[in-house]
Amino acid sequence: MSENKKQKQIILTGDRPTGRLHVGHYVGSLRRRVELQNSGNYDEIYIMIADAQALTDNAENPDKVRENVTQVALDYLSVGLDPAKSTLFIQSQIPELCELSFYYMNLVTVSRLQRNPTVKAEIQQRNFEASIPVGFFTYPISQTADITAFQATVVPVGEDQMPMLEQAKEIVHKFNTVYGETLTDPKIMLPENKYCMRLPGTDGKAKMSKSLGNCIYLSDTEEEVNKKIKTMFTDPLHLKVEDPGHLEGNTVFIYLEAFANDDHFAEFWPDYKNLDELKEHYTRGGLGDVKVKKFLGKVLQSELAPIRERRAQWEKDIDGVYEILKKGSEVAEAKAAETLAAVKKAMKIDYFG
Ligand code: ATP
Ligand code: MG
Repeated sequence: MSENKKQKQIILTGDRPTGRLHVGHYVGSLRRRVELQNSGNYDEIYIMIADAQALTDNAENPDKVRENVTQVALDYLSVGLDPAKSTLFIQSQIPELCELSFYYMNLVTVSRLQRNPTVKAEIQQRNFEASIPVGFFTYPISQTADITAFQATVVPVGEDQMPMLEQAKEIVHKFNTVYGETLTDPKIMLPENKYCMRLPGTDGKAKMSKSLGNCIYLSDTEEEVNKKIKTMFTDPLHLKVEDPGHLEGNTVFIYLEAFANDDHFAEFWPDYKNLDELKEHYTRGGLGDVKVKKFLGKVLQSELAPIRERRAQWEKDIDGVYEILKKGSEVAEAKAAETLAAVKKAMKIDYFG
């Protein structure tokens, strides 16, 4: 295949500015994004702060969304997303995304949207029941607009986004069948480590989520992190140190699976070579939760300290942060406009050339 025929490798992903980003985002998506960004294997990388999507279930809270745009941008820069390599932008500044959503709505049925398991769970979580905002109900369509506007080939996200990617692929297929080959078929990229796909909350609930208040935030201080680890859900049957411990549903061990590597053991707890050895001792009995939690605290501290330091630097330059978002939004809009033009042409609504 000749060089100019090779398909461009393009990443699109993002986060809702409904709160600061947490360690679930980090292992589920952020850590991977930074690796992909620095791999040099991608032609274009778009990272979106999904404020318009956040407003679909926060319509009455514009201040919350606005404030968290700043927080999420700070989190991005502090984990190592680099505006020289990745385009960081704000969703609402790209009006083309609304236009695309409007046309895609014709290609999706209400019953198809109702079947989306993530949306179903989120509706329950938010007690929407009979009063679901239309915008919230249709956000999988708007997310398809986000993905396709940038002709994304790869979407690195956590497991809860699988139904959104399926929906996006269906719309792409339908659009291309009806109007001719126009949109790029996106691929989901899930974390390789299964414990990172959906990190549970500190309360042991299925997902750490900004909307559930069970998070360890990337911007938490060392004291805050240690306090949260202290009260973390472990094994309710592990009452005495001598008792055998259980790993299933044990949040502390799930976090160790997601974060700890052999170097952490060498540095902080050389009694064990690796997590397997620690697990073996815990399940045999004779190892208390407090010790394991202390180790987890050290592991998280070593990961989060450099992130915290970079954040403190960027916090002194909020104007600079907004300059990055403004420039990024301009670049993103130009790309989305190209796709919208192709879409309108395919749909035969390009009347004036
Ligand atoms: P909200 O409760 O407002 O939906 P959230 O915590 O679910 O917030 P999102 O902004 O919806 O965060 O998700 C951003 C990205 O982070 C997505 O790719 C999602 O899959 C990933 N993600 C979110 N929570 C987790 C988690 N607990 N474990 C792994 N990945 C996660
Ligand atoms: Mg979410």
